[in-house]
Amino acid sequence: MTRVAGSSQNDRSGRSNREKRPSRLLRWNALAWVGFAILLMVLWNKANILDIHQHSDYLTLLRDSQAVDARLNQSVLEARLGQLSSYDPIVTKTAKLKQIQAKLQQIPSFVDPTERAALDQLLRRQRELLQAKEVLINQFNSQNAVLKNSLSYFPILVRTLVEKPTIAPSQSEQLNLFLQNVLLLDVLGDSEDVSAQLMQQIEQLEALEADQSNEPLKTAIAHAQLILQGQPRREALLHGILIVSTRDMSEDFAQIYYQSYQRALTTVDFYRFWFFVLCTVGVIAIAASIILKLRRSERALRQSETKFRTLLSAIPDLMMRLTADGTYLDFIPNKSFKAYLNHTERDVVGKTVFELLPAQLARERMTYIRQALKTGELQVYEYQLINDNEIQHLENRVVVSGKNEVLIIIRDITEKKKAQIELESQKAFLQQAKEAAESANKAKSIFLSNMSHELRTPLNVILGFAQLLNYGDSLTAHQQQYLDAISRSGEHLLMLINDVLEMSKIEAGRILLNETNVDLYAVIQTLQQMFQFKAESKGLQLIVEQSSDLPQYIRTDESKLRQVLVNLLGNAVKFTQTGAIVLRVQWQPDTANFHFAVSDTGVGIAPEERDRIFDPFVQTEATQQFHLNTPLQAQNGTGLGLAISRRFVQLLGGEIWVESQVGVGSTFHFTIQAQLAEGDGMLIQSSQYQVIGLEPGQPTYRILIVEDKLENRQLLVELLRPIGFEVQEAINGQEAIEQWKAWLPHLICLDLRMPVLNGYQAAQQIRAQQQNNEAPIIIAITSSAFEEDRHQALAAGCDDFVRKPFRADIIFEKIAQHLGVRYRYAAEPRSLSIRATSVLKPSELIEIDQLNHMPPAWRTQLHEAAIRVDAEAIGQLIEQIPESQADLAKALTYLVDQFQFEEIVARTKLKFTECIRSAHPNEEHFQI
Ligand code: ADP
Repeated sequence: MTRVAGSSQNDRSGRSNREKRPSRLLRWNALAWVGFAILLMVLWNKANILDIHQHSDYLTLLRDSQAVDARLNQSVLEARLGQLSSYDPIVTKTAKLKQIQAKLQQIPSFVDPTERAALDQLLRRQRELLQAKEVLINQFNSQNAVLKNSLSYFPILVRTLVEKPTIAPSQSEQLNLFLQNVLLLDVLGDSEDVSAQLMQQIEQLEALEADQSNEPLKTAIAHAQLILQGQPRREALLHGILIVSTRDMSEDFAQIYYQSYQRALTTVDFYRFWFFVLCTVGVIAIAASIILKLRRSERALRQSETKFRTLLSAIPDLMMRLTADGTYLDFIPNKSFKAYLNHTERDVVGKTVFELLPAQLARERMTYIRQALKTGELQVYEYQLINDNEIQHLENRVVVSGKNEVLIIIRDITEKKKAQIELESQKAFLQQAKEAAESANKAKSIFLSNMSHELRTPLNVILGFAQLLNYGDSLTAHQQQYLDAISRSGEHLLMLINDVLEMSKIEAGRILLNETNVDLYAVIQTLQQMFQFKAESKGLQLIVEQSSDLPQYIRTDESKLRQVLVNLLGNAVKFTQTGAIVLRVQWQPDTANFHFAVSDTGVGIAPEERDRIFDPFVQTEATQQFHLNTPLQAQNGTGLGLAISRRFVQLLGGEIWVESQVGVGSTFHFTIQAQLAEGDGMLIQSSQYQVIGLEPGQPTYRILIVEDKLENRQLLVELLRPIGFEVQEAINGQEAIEQWKAWLPHLICLDLRMPVLNGYQAAQQIRAQQQNNEAPIIIAITSSAFEEDRHQALAAGCDDFVRKPFRADIIFEKIAQHLGVRYRYAAEPRSLSIRATSVLKPSELIEIDQLNHMPPAWRTQLHEAAIRVDAEAIGQLIEQIPESQADLAKALTYLVDQFQFEEIVARTKLKFTECIRSAHPNEEHFQI
């Protein structure tokens, strides 16, 4: 056990491991893909740090800076050469250069920090240089402006002097040379020779001017001196401007920047390379996984297809798909089909039914295909094929499987057909057997009917004469008691016979409802009396509760109702040790239902057994145990009682059910449908008062008794004649007709079974021959058990039906009912012995223990005496009981007084045989 549990645990954990594995794998897979994606993103970012537009813009700026610097120098030179009318170009270019410098400070982001620092430093230096250059340019400009001014005035002054008429030619020549040298100096810039000559000439001209005090000359000399002094300064400034290394700086800058760019380019290329490599790897991985998945799903598909095919091949049907025009789309061959044995899928698919089937079959198939497509409904048809001289029965099912396409399922039903044929022959055989059984059953019924007749006839005599004796006043009290005992036992026997018959009728399926007017109170009372002793002898209380509105007279099948109640009460007493048995009867006027409930405080019934107990031969665990524990008190049954009760209750138009709790008790409920009986008051009333004669002033009624058995005839004669009726007898139907014709009786009591001419025939003939005014009342009297006989008698012309053994009351009532006879009754109601019966007090119970105290020989004698119904012998035995067991003596005396010999037999028998099984109150009724 433990091992199995352990292994199942392993299985479970193995399974859960297997279940966990794929999910863990899936998680790792996802993580790997996320990591991969992050890596790709990082690479992508690194590969895109180089902004090519930014780079080209920066390069342009660099180039512009160099170009503007060169053009600035050029402009300065032009200014030196006097080619510029204004200094604007120089100012503009300086400003532009500054602007470019400012822009260059925004170094592109891909430049790494070290190079960026170097570039920043260079930029700073360049800015300084540019500032210095600007200062020089400004100085140059102002110097140049001064020189330019002197150079423009000097020639004018010289010409003015030269053109003076007073000037000596030598002086004029001197002045022209002076002008020449000044202009030459301006062109040459810095020339020592020219400067020396000029200084010499200035000295000479100063001397001259001192002589003549010539103002213009003085001005000219001043300008010349200015030019001579300013010229070298201007040249020095120009030189300074031109040698400022802004251009070199700019080239250094460009170089560093370019290197940085190259390095960034290499890095970006590196990252790009790896990005693309990883992308390729990723794409390959994805492609591989897709391919793998595809392969796997293809494999699964193939497997499922194989499975599907295996499954299909396991199906005994042949399947195919066809188009509306009968072309095969699919064909799943099946070996069990001989007709298609040689066909493979390839042979069939693409062909039409006309190519593969005989023409007629093909046409038939097409008809059903069209029909299926038209209606959308399943079409089923059968046909036959002959193969190797064997007929194959096939069933075709055509079902629409798509637009203009059908699925045909063909099933080999040869075996089924064979079975069907066999079944039909078996049916015929069974029919024959059934007929035979029915005729046997009929024979059985006839036998039962005869048997019951045979049993009822002597019983009728016994009960009848017992009743007759009752009518006399000559009986002593003792004799009256004997007579009551005879009547009671006879009636009990009658009940037994009825029940035996009922049971056999159930078996023969011939249970009929025999409804009569029933005194429900009397039924309940009889039952109470019947069970009072049994209950109290076990120390149980028997309580009867009937609702105050309970109708007294109802129309139902008394025998069946009584049997059900007897069974339920019997069981209740049997399976209860202490407590009480309660019989409740209620009327539900709205549903015309009578509700009976028998409750006990006995062993109870387990829930799972509650439904089964109504099945035949079922006994519950609890009660079996009960029988084992109390072998002496409990009476075992057969398990048939409830089954019969259920049938009867159903027949009475109700249902039966049980509520129970083990160890607490059970309540059996049942309902019956019953109408209230009308006009029964008189009938029953008469039964309580003894008829003693006819009221005076009535016609003399003639009654013909037709009966083949002397005793039975006598019984009726003795009953009716003393009352005041004129009575005659006939011994068969033939005689009856003759008597009727001759005597014209008012009423005929007609036995149905008689030799020569039976009652049915006699009634028919009388009815056929009668004149209106001489139609007699015919009351059929029979001991037949069957309800059909009653109908048959009424159909033959009888007015009424009395079943033997009858009660005298019934005969009087029937006569009164049909002839309107009025009786005289005894003043006192008859005391029915059964009603006078007193019951034992619990203290008077026969204790088994007490019986035990008596010697075995004594008990044997008691048992035998009880069997012989020998009251005298029992009396002698009672006398031997010691004083100490007075209770036992009292109880036995009571039982003898009440003629309850069977109780004594049962108790002593039980004691001596230790037999568990004993007579159930119903057992005699039901056990056949
Ligand atoms: P029998 O009583 O002859 O065995 P029944 O058909 O009357 O047959 O009852 C069938 C079974 O139902 C009984 O054997 C008993 O096990 C159970 N049963 C019937 N009535 C009761 C009850 N009142 N208390 C407990 N069990 C009962």
